[in-house]
Order: sequence, then C-alpha cells, then structure tokens
Amino acid sequence: MKERELVIVGGGPAGMAAALAARASGVGDVLLLERDQHLGGILNQCIHPGFGLHHFKAELTGPEYAGRFADLVGRDRGIEVSLRSFAVGLNREKELSYLRPGALEEVKARSVILATGCRERTREMIPIPGSRPAGVYPAGLAQKMVNLEGWLPGREAVIVGSGDIGLIMARRLALEGVKVKAVIELQKVSRGLVRNVVQCLEDFGIPLYLRHRVSLIHGRDRVEKVDVVKVDEEFRDVPGSGFSIPCDTVLVSVGLIPENELLEMAGAEIDREKNTPVAPSVNLTSIPGVFACGNACKVYDLVDWVTRDSELAGRLAAEYLGLGKPPPARDASE
Ligand SMILES: Cc1cc2nc3c(=O)[nH]c(=O)nc-3n(C[C@H](O)[C@H](O)[C@H](O)COP(=O)(O)OP(=O)(O)OC[C@H]3O[C@@H](n4cnc5c(N)ncnc54)[C@H](O)[C@@H]3O)c2cc1C
Repeated sequence: MKERELVIVGGGPAGMAAALAARASGVGDVLLLERDQHLGGILNQCIHPGFGLHHFKAELTGPEYAGRFADLVGRDRGIEVSLRSFAVGLNREKELSYLRPGALEEVKARSVILATGCRERTREMIPIPGSRPAGVYPAGLAQKMVNLEGWLPGREAVIVGSGDIGLIMARRLALEGVKVKAVIELQKVSRGLVRNVVQCLEDFGIPLYLRHRVSLIHGRDRVEKVDVVKVDEEFRDVPGSGFSIPCDTVLVSVGLIPENELLEMAGAEIDREKNTPVAPSVNLTSIPGVFACGNACKVYDLVDWVTRDSELAGRLAAEYLGLGKPPPARDASE
C-alpha cells in the first residue's frame, strides 16, 4: 500500500484551502482526492456574485472564488490532485481506499483531512404529504440543472424554505423567466441573509409567506398545485387560513446535512443530530490525525469562513506531522 503524508478528501474550497495551508506549513506530500471532474465543489454551480468579500476584499462569483484557489493548487508541485476519485473507505489506521476510472486504489496516510461538504435535506425529511409527482427538486439540485446543465425545472414554481439557497434560486428562476409564485417559510423570520431577502425576493416582487407551511402537494404525473396554511406560534395550523397555489414545480430548500460517512466508517464519534464530528474545537475529530473542515465539519453560511477554518485544518495536520507551529484552537461554535 502506497504511503502518503497527508490525504485530503474533497476538492471544494475547504479541501483546497487546507491543502495550500498544509503545504505552507511544510507538508511535503499532499494527495487531494475529488470525485468530480473539476476542483471547486459546490461553488462551480454558484454563478451569482457575493463570494470573497472578506477573504479577497472583492465581490466574486463562486467559480471565480474557486478558480483562484484551483490555480494555486495546480501550480503547487507538492499537491497531487486526483480527479474523478471517489473515496469509499477509511479506517482508524488511516488506510483509505478510493475508486478512480478503471482502478480501486489503496493508500496509507499519516494524516487525513475530510473536506467532503454537505448534501441537501429532501422532501422526505420534512415531510410534505401528498402524491409523488415529477417536479419536486432539492433547490441545490435545481441550481445545478439551471447553471451547469442549462435546462429549467419548470415554468411556475413555489419554493419551500427561505434559507439562502432557496432565496438565490427564487431570483435565478425569475431571471430565467420562471414565474416564482411564493417562498413559504415555517419560521417567523427568513433563515437567509437580509441582503438575499431584499435582492432576491423584494426586488423581484416575489411574496414571502412567513409562519406558513405547504400542507399538501397535488399532481398525478407532474405537480399541479400546493396547499398552503398559516401556522401559529406552536406551529399548529390556523383554521380557515388555507389556500392553494397552482404551480408545476416545487423547490425544497430546507437545510444541509454534513457528509461524514467516511468518518463514521473509521469509527469516529459523530453528533447524530447534526451529523458532525464530536470534538472540543473546530476541525478536530475523535481520531488523532484525522481532521474535518468546511461544511463537513459544520454548515457555514459564507465560503470566506470555510476558507479561514480550513486553513487552520491544514496547519493542524502539519502540526500533527511534527511540522509548522501549533495554530490556536478555535471553538466549534464560533
Ligand atoms: C447550493 C449552495 C449555494 C450556496 N451559495 C452561497 C453563496 O451564495 N455565498 C457563500 O458565501 N456561500 C454559499 N454557499 C456556501 C458555500 O458554497 C459552502 O459553504 C462551501 O462551498 C463549502 O465548501 P466545502 O469545500 O466544505 O464543500 P463543497 O463545496 O460541497 O465541496 C465538497 C467537495 O467534496 C467532494 N467529495 C465529497 N465526498 C467525496 C468523496 N467521498 N470522495 C471524493 N470527493 C468527495 C465533493 O464532490 C465536493 O467537490 C452555498 C452552498 C450551497 C450548497
């Protein structure tokens, strides 16, 4: 089995920042595994501006932000990037297996950083009653369809959940000519940034229904309409408040779940509610020499903070390998 000093799983902003910081702290040999065919992670589909205001003091799109890191990674001869490489196994001894086209590779790492990001919560996890017609998509998947694959999910949409991804998709669909009829939010305030409520909904005249829920999805082959009802402080339906919205598409934007299956497979302690590593400070896990960073460690609003904390993960890995100066620990709740 080949030996490596540091193996990083995930070539999104977290994995790239960790790789560069580890190299700057003296790690000589980094293997960066990415299952996709490009580096950049979720940023590749986020073509809107608003990234990098803190880290670069410039307003960049997602691909521009990722591109700056990918250029640096590409120029660093101490980082071997392996694309289309899907890590499928990890144990406590830091033996890692991954699939790449035509081969199953095994590698023994002296340290590991998991930067595997998040997946989206789905309709089944809320859940919304009704039939199972076509036209119901997680919002991030719809973002990928529109921005990377060039096709629209439908013509008349209702968005469930007012987190940033839902808000950004409301604007994106409106810009593409889709009639966005409403954003429905169970809580009494939007879960997204105020600037996104203003720029993505108010500027486009898209109504936001706070303290409402979608109570039923109708449709046989394709979504035909949704029923919406107001809820009180205890989230009970308010009698007589129900109404219907005809639509052919429902986007579900109800949160993200950190991807930590590899960490779990290795036997690390996992917080079952949040699916994050149990650890006293950010980036650590219960296995010495195995670190987690970016959205795999906790769900971040802004990529700039992903970069900041992932650089720390790179330095922590270097320190574990006996290189660099010990970085200050940061509390996981910061
Ligand atoms: C839909 C969406 C919209 C967003 N919009 C904004 C925004 O407007 N502004 C902002 O600042 N932030 C935004 N964010 C947040 C920001 O983009 C994320 O915080 C950031 O991308 C997280 O970086 P990451 O590297 O941790 O994860 P990701 O970007 O998800 O990267 C994880 C990478 O790991 C790879 N991977 C996972 N498992 C494996 C495996 N087993 N083997 C190999 N590779 C693997 C994935 O393919 C992926 O490339 C958005 C997030 C999402 C999901």
